[in-house]
Amino acid sequence: QREDNQMSQQNAVEVIDVSKSFGEYQALRSVSFDIRENEFFTMLGPSGCGKTTLLRMMAGFEAPDTGSLRLHDRDIVDIPPHKRRVNTVFQSYALFPHMTLEQNVAFGLENLGWEKARIKARVGEMLERVHMDQFTKRKPAQLSGGQRQRVALARALAPGPEVLLLDEPLSALDLKLRQAMRDELRSLQRDTGITFVFVTHDQEEALDMSDRIAVLGSGQVQQIGTPSQIYEEPVNRFVADFVGETNFFDVDVLEAGDHKAKVRTPFGQVIEIPAPVDVSKGKATLSIRPEKLNLGDQVQGIDFTAEVRHKHYLGGYTHYVLDASGTEIRASRRNASREGDTISVGSQVHVGFVEKSARVLAS
Ligand code: ATP
Repeated sequence: QREDNQMSQQNAVEVIDVSKSFGEYQALRSVSFDIRENEFFTMLGPSGCGKTTLLRMMAGFEAPDTGSLRLHDRDIVDIPPHKRRVNTVFQSYALFPHMTLEQNVAFGLENLGWEKARIKARVGEMLERVHMDQFTKRKPAQLSGGQRQRVALARALAPGPEVLLLDEPLSALDLKLRQAMRDELRSLQRDTGITFVFVTHDQEEALDMSDRIAVLGSGQVQQIGTPSQIYEEPVNRFVADFVGETNFFDVDVLEAGDHKAKVRTPFGQVIEIPAPVDVSKGKATLSIRPEKLNLGDQVQGIDFTAEVRHKHYLGGYTHYVLDASGTEIRASRRNASREGDTISVGSQVHVGFVEKSARVLAS
């Protein structure tokens, strides 16, 4: 097993031009991307976007119609699941109910023909690593959901896979536990140095844990990047909309080039804003996140007025739904002081944003 945690540029998994249909339905359309060795890589997308199908192909439970998959430079399409050094952790844990934790973790190692002493040592080490070493003789029914998922992780990691596939492993857990398990999963990945491929439809989970994220939509890769690239520099409307909240405005592009565009806003100003992908003259979309709008008497940058329609006080921050001449706008602001108390429903407020916090996207 590799214990080094050096980020190397070697690819652990390569997905090359993969397409897959189920009957008439095309689930994946010429999908290509690389997963680097030692990275925590997430496939994020709405239900039906094809992420589980891709994960199942990496595991060997599904084959592409066309295209290929490589694991550490070896073509794996014709290699059966049990011969790939890949293991999967499922949402449903899939532990054997009649076996103790020890037996569950040992099972795969016995099948691989490991010697008894080596199995014992490995099982102890893995259960310790997931903080379950005090429960070795219990059966899965005597454990909480979070504890079962830890055992499932120990079992999947025990043989030292080259890649660990995680299929929405946290979605059966309650909110508090899910958040705590994020840290545990992340530490486990760092400590073992194993490449993790994580599937989720939960954007917050993806942003929180991943080295890189592939956003999938309509059977295609919409964007690949670090969490902050995905959030701050979405390349299209789908990504801007699916990851986080945003406001979209129709704008006219007057000039474009060099990752910038001069646009006319619906509020009449002509401004120059960043364009993560090149846009051409004509209609486009301006995207601006709610937290990047500032409200109040002393707004910065582009300034317009709007009426406060709804106000959602959420403790640490407040969400506002505003109406700017018929356009609905969502703004949020952190409650660092109680200044926001003075913004009341029905009142007119100044809304502002600085040019560099907006993005123009092809519409
Ligand atoms: P979810 O989060 O709902 O599982 P997903 O993004 O993981 O969604 P996939 O499970 O990969 O999506 O499925 C992609 C599409 O292919 C879906 O529309 C699904 O209904 C369809 N599909 C997947 N497997 C099969 C199958 N064995 N037979 C028929 N259709 C399938």
